[in-house]
Amino acid sequence: MNKKIVAIDGPAGAGKSTVSKLVAHELGYTYIDTGAMYRAVALKVISQNKPVNEDLIVDVAKDIDIDLRYEDGITKVFTDGEEVTGKIRTPEVSKAASDVAKSGFVRQRLTELQRKMATRGGVIMDGRDIGTHVLPNANVKIYLTASVEERARRRCEELKAKSLDVNIDEVARDIQARDKQDMEREIAPLKQAEDAVLLDTTGMSIDEVVNEILKLCSD
Ligand code: C5P
Repeated sequence: MNKKIVAIDGPAGAGKSTVSKLVAHELGYTYIDTGAMYRAVALKVISQNKPVNEDLIVDVAKDIDIDLRYEDGITKVFTDGEEVTGKIRTPEVSKAASDVAKSGFVRQRLTELQRKMATRGGVIMDGRDIGTHVLPNANVKIYLTASVEERARRRCEELKAKSLDVNIDEVARDIQARDKQDMEREIAPLKQAEDAVLLDTTGMSIDEVVNEILKLCSD
């Protein structure tokens, strides 16, 4: 089978990274988690302990070095040489990531990096604007979603597994607020690409979703 470029977009907690990793493993492809890149910028912005504004965001994004390394079955994220894999997964960083993702400067810088990472093919990339903006010529485009209740439940389980204290209503509110902001921003908002296949995973098991995507990749 030819090495394809697979784009997976969708709202928060839809299971994009979980299934993308498994599909990448099955196909021997590289998985690129673009959300981790926005999170890495956000963490560095917050860590400056300064009022967050566009000048600060541009300053940080200008020369940040982000490296995604797939090791031992997980994508490790390094910012300026320091591993931040765990630190970028807090609710605070999720919110800040959606804030910095509105910046045209940040989007342009990360989009360039993402396109470079995809040039060789054999890539599965997930995010919000991959099928619409980053890789409009991707061979397979999928818009992965699920009901808010199910997405909140999945996100809670993930956070609990990391011993973080969570409340399901709060998590549901956070993901809805983040989706709204991601869908309403001016530059490259979250939306289904016209040629993307819609996959609603509510009530589906991870294996079922992975198999569905593998089928779409083999067409
Ligand atoms: O996918 P994840 O939840 O890790 O993404 C964090 C945030 O990064 C999203 O809420 C969104 O604001 C932003 N993002 C984006 N474009 C992408 C990937 C993520 O704007 N391609």
